[in-house]
Amino acid sequence: MIENNDTSAQDSCDENPAFNNRHNHQDCISSALDKAQALCRTRNSRLTPVRKRVLELIWQSHKPLGAYQILSQLAADGFNSAPPTVYRALDFLLEHGLLHRIASLNAFIGCNNPNHNHHGYFLICRSCGSAQEIEAGNLSTYLRKNASAAGFVIESETVELSGLCPLCLEQQGHSQSDK
Ligand SMILES: [Zn+2]
Ligand SMILES: [Zn+2]
Ligand SMILES: [Zn+2]
Repeated sequence: MIENNDTSAQDSCDENPAFNNRHNHQDCISSALDKAQALCRTRNSRLTPVRKRVLELIWQSHKPLGAYQILSQLAADGFNSAPPTVYRALDFLLEHGLLHRIASLNAFIGCNNPNHNHHGYFLICRSCGSAQEIEAGNLSTYLRKNASAAGFVIESETVELSGLCPLCLEQQGHSQSDK
């Protein structure tokens, strides 16, 4: 992890941390855990040690993590890593909006805004695997309008866009000379 000593990187860091290798990721982790604790408290739910650890494992980076990776890391931590335990923890975290499931990768990513009205719109880098959640308010309205015109009730709404992140673009020398 690279410490963020450069304050000029701060702005974009708050915006799209997944695509900023200079942000202080410890801040992402502690803020996610704080939000999870607060949310569980207001909802009278318990962030048990295993739930908390699963959330922490998923937040170790901005790359979605698969259930098997979670299982093996939990086992290494000495937790009960039986698949049902892990799946129950994942279900709990999903239910409370603390995670999103990325279907195309069959993996999970932390949400840093668990109180928002939950849609997940993700930019997913096919090279480094980082996933960045973005806002897409108008798109949601449009999709809902067309779905309900078709008599369809949307139960979950996740849009996954695949491509290359700015860091990988730069590495591959495809970067437009923007600066
Ligand atoms: Zn981060
Ligand atoms: Zn989210
Ligand atoms: Zn990338």
